Amino acid sequence: MSRYPVGIDFGTTNSMIAVFKEKGVIEVISSDSGKRYLPSVIYFKNKKEAVTGDNAKSMQLLESQNTIANVKRYMGTDKKFEIHGKKYSAVELAALFFKKLKNLHRDYTGEDEAQAVITVPAYFDHMQREAVRSAAESAGFDVMTLLNEPTAAALYYNNIGKKENELCLVFDLGGGTLDISLIELNKNCLRVIATGGSTEIGGVDFDVAVADYLNDEFHKLHGIDLKTDPIAYQQLMFQAEKAKMELSALNETNIVIPYITITPKGPLHFKKELDKALFNRITEPIINKIKQITEDILTQNGLKPEDISRVLPVGGASRICNVRAFVESMFKSSVSKDLNPEEAVVCGAAVNAGMRAGLLKDRQFFDVTSHNLGLEDDNGNFEIILEKNEPYPVSFTSRFVTTDSSLKAVTVHVLQDMAKSSLNVSDNLGNNPDYFISLAKFDFQVENEEDESLIDIEFNIDGSGIVKVVAKDVNSGRQNDFTLKSEFTSDIIDNVKIY
Ligand code: ADP
Ligand code: MG
Repeated sequence: MSRYPVGIDFGTTNSMIAVFKEKGVIEVISSDSGKRYLPSVIYFKNKKEAVTGDNAKSMQLLESQNTIANVKRYMGTDKKFEIHGKKYSAVELAALFFKKLKNLHRDYTGEDEAQAVITVPAYFDHMQREAVRSAAESAGFDVMTLLNEPTAAALYYNNIGKKENELCLVFDLGGGTLDISLIELNKNCLRVIATGGSTEIGGVDFDVAVADYLNDEFHKLHGIDLKTDPIAYQQLMFQAEKAKMELSALNETNIVIPYITITPKGPLHFKKELDKALFNRITEPIINKIKQITEDILTQNGLKPEDISRVLPVGGASRICNVRAFVESMFKSSVSKDLNPEEAVVCGAAVNAGMRAGLLKDRQFFDVTSHNLGLEDDNGNFEIILEKNEPYPVSFTSRFVTTDSSLKAVTVHVLQDMAKSSLNVSDNLGNNPDYFISLAKFDFQVENEEDESLIDIEFNIDGSGIVKVVAKDVNSGRQNDFTLKSEFTSDIIDNVKIY
């Protein structure tokens, strides 16, 4: 058992690592540049050397083809990134990034062993979770469990002062995602009631909206579309993000980009004043979407804003001026100011690491699944076995009967869906991956000496939200385990030096 179990928040935009120390002290490990977070960006200098964090972020402008950001968005997908003529999967790149976190941990603790709790968005499906787990393990972390990000934030909130009968809403707006969870806190017990959100809304959408607006203004003035010049547009994006952050504290800001483009008549500079009112107007459609998602979660659970005793704003983008204003107008005085939005998740992961390592006793928590889990039936329809918002760890068995004695095997197709149960699998699997995620498809041999075969399919969801399926032939007792693991082999950890 390592002396310093850690929590890790592997973010789309920024990642953090926090140590659970003696007497329950939680300390965030600083990056080499002295910041408490490490931007989740990797820049490949060449095939053998890569750089993370702020140094990588600044290379996004000059060598975007060798710089990878937002890797988390591609976890669990087949997407390949080609850099310096070599192809990498998202999980390989994540593994390399975890190796940097592992080095930071070793430098801080002097230990090679690193037991970790790693947070993932609540809506992550089995495949995405597996990808994160295997990336961290291949970088040398001993992953004690994966933990849902909103649950982590609530664990931390409860850790800084026990709460009695509070119904919390965790509102986590990160760079690219909105994650909302309803969580009951009562002394040492934390119970997640429901989760929801969107993978299509985050802080970056505000940057895009502002950058596009600035581009339109420039176009009106000079007849030049800066989108056709990737470096100029990236500069607009950087400045849009900077302006958005400044408007969290100030009423107005100036955007200045000297020499944004060169025309036959000479260089052009970019200059524009942006105040809160204009920012609000530009980004209003995004706020409306966020509002809709928040309201939907409340109504789906039969709740009104007044029923929520505490709202925990989490994620850097919860600081955006009109996001903050929306949350406060909806939930009034129940909005908590106790948490640092950037650090709540990683500190909660560290609390859980302390719990798992046996350093923090008498705490309990119960999380819930964020997807329906089921099987494809004979007609190609999705049959739900375990419904969304089911507390886990959990195990459930379904019995199937086959009456066709010529049948030698049955095909078991395990799926997760996003909510809609009456959809046809084959119509929606390929062309609408948002509805179904195929976790595994395998043939299970049946021995039907009798006229009918009974097959039990058992689903297990462990404490990390990872699914295991066991198929059992009831007559013969024969069974097969299908741990739906995503293993990957790669020499990236050994071959690439990471700074
Ligand atoms: P993730 O979980 O995606 O890694 P974070 O919680 O670190 O993300 O949030 C990153 C987002 O928060 C970015 O879009 C960033 O621009 C935004 N952000 C960070 N600080 C501020 C601030 N002070 N005001 C407004 N937005 C901010
Ligand atoms: Mg986050």
